[in-house]
Amino acid sequence: MSRIAFIGVGNMGAGMAASQARSQNAVTAFDLSAEALGRAAEAGCATAGSVAEAVKDAEVVITMLPAGQHVRSVYAEQVLPNVPVSALLIDCSTIDVDSARAVAAQAAARGMRFADAPVSGGIMAAEGGTLAFMVGCDADVFPQVKAALEPMAKAVIHAGAAGAGQAAKICNNMLLGISMLGTCEALALAEKLGLDPDRFFEVAGQSSGQCWSLTAYSPWPGQVPAAPSNRDYQGGFLTSLMLKDLKLAQEAAAKSGAATPMGAQAEALYALFDGLGYGGRDFSAVLQLMRGKLDALVLTNQ
Ligand code: NAD
Repeated sequence: MSRIAFIGVGNMGAGMAASQARSQNAVTAFDLSAEALGRAAEAGCATAGSVAEAVKDAEVVITMLPAGQHVRSVYAEQVLPNVPVSALLIDCSTIDVDSARAVAAQAAARGMRFADAPVSGGIMAAEGGTLAFMVGCDADVFPQVKAALEPMAKAVIHAGAAGAGQAAKICNNMLLGISMLGTCEALALAEKLGLDPDRFFEVAGQSSGQCWSLTAYSPWPGQVPAAPSNRDYQGGFLTSLMLKDLKLAQEAAAKSGAATPMGAQAEALYALFDGLGYGGRDFSAVLQLMRGKLDALVLTNQ
């Protein structure tokens, strides 16, 4: 049993903290939202009135916060000044690589162990304890990080040193965004050419155009039963979150000097789709933009 401080028990953190509590760990949660904290209490977590109180005798600190600025300020102002030096610090938020490296450096300056460990998988995987973690930390710290994440994980992969987890996450999601847009374009063109979309699915699924976005998550309703396209694009991976990750990829590309023209196009297209009011739909709903059939979707975030 470990004493875990869990900071940020929103959509993702709630399920993750619950998984830790189910594994007989003593979880103390803190969130700025009283409602979120109440849900954590129902899931078997103790609650604290501040970050400082939550971390004061923690063996492991896990954070699941919205963005880089939250992670930087929570660690610099509240976690690091109050947590025992022996604690293992793990940030699971999706943030920019520079913020992850900055927090890792601050922790190292105090002689502390820190890992960036963003996740793949959504709210259902968080609740089920089946997330995939990509971890950036020193090699000798990784086994301890893996052990701490295991109650929430189906896979824990060491991506490299500090910041490598975030780098892996944004590169993967940039590839996913681009491949989904390509899949949608191809399906829309097939339709215009008079091809039956289901025949195209069968052909491309067994040809060189095959990719996860088509064969595991088809945006065309009826082709992959579990895909959000069969549920009116509700749930799944929200357009607004894909846009966040594509923005992080573009920022990283600009800073590192990498050429990512397809990533830039993907960001622009998802920004357009989000701006039209579809940020609350699964990212595969962009098919209906490509088809010129936006009237098939009900606006959800306006
Ligand atoms: P969320 O907004 O539901 O949860 C974030 C929580 O952090 C909120 O409850 C908020 O009150 C809390 N918070 C903010 N500032 C705080 C502070 N200073 N102290 C304590 N609590 C604070 O977001 P989410 O969907 O749970 O996502 C969290 C992270 O996980 C994000 O970085 C997101 O990009 C990433 N992510 C989300 C998903 C998903 O499907 N939702 C999937 C993969 C990764």
